[in-house]
Amino acid sequence: MTSRLNLIVLGKQGAGKGTQSAVLCEKYAIPHVSTGDILRNAVKAGSELGKKVASILEAGDLVSDDIVNQLVEERFKEADAQRGVLLDGFPRTIGQAEALEAMLGDDGIKLCINLDVPIELVTQRLSSRRVCQECGTTYRDSDVEAISGTCSNCGGDVIQRTDDYPEAIRTRLMNYERDTEPLLSFYGSRGLLVSVNGDQSPADVTDEIMKVVHERGLA
Ligand code: ADP
Repeated sequence: MTSRLNLIVLGKQGAGKGTQSAVLCEKYAIPHVSTGDILRNAVKAGSELGKKVASILEAGDLVSDDIVNQLVEERFKEADAQRGVLLDGFPRTIGQAEALEAMLGDDGIKLCINLDVPIELVTQRLSSRRVCQECGTTYRDSDVEAISGTCSNCGGDVIQRTDDYPEAIRTRLMNYERDTEPLLSFYGSRGLLVSVNGDQSPADVTDEIMKVVHERGLA
């Protein structure tokens, strides 16, 4: 079996995971697997899963490991995931990271990229973030698209995410510190972690990541 390029993008909320993920997926021709997107789409579609998780997402709390592990396991079975995947927002607990290891077996995670950004900066980014409900393009509150409420990319509605309000932002960042930060040592101890300064232009962040991927002979 050919080796799969399985990447994880880790970092606080607002660190730029979505932006980097979109670029990297295009460069390496692997699908973007964002558990946040999958869950938000379920809420929007009003499915059974969506009804179960809607209030959890709104409060900024974590959905149970069982639910997200199963979503990811299902996603791995799809045809486009056979070359590898870029995981964004998963794993975010040690339990999820262990489940992921069990799912992938020997052809496991090749690299975990940590986007390092100070907490003050992400808080500011999240409060001013606006997103297109259709295509997910992100804007700042001062952008014309945010003011007009219309995405220049697809014409969709540009809104403020229900969890990008102060209380939910605080909860999400606290959860990150408690549940997700331990993953840095989890992947560090496996020699799979690389930390990149996320407080620079998106293009510079991408360059740094691609350099590491290349140096490690992953693509
Ligand atoms: P952010 O990282 O900015 O919070 P995401 O889009 O990754 O945004 O996730 C949005 C929400 O979806 C989270 O606050 C949480 O409720 C839920 N979620 C996403 N991924 C996971 C996960 N791996 N485990 C538990 N809950 C998750």
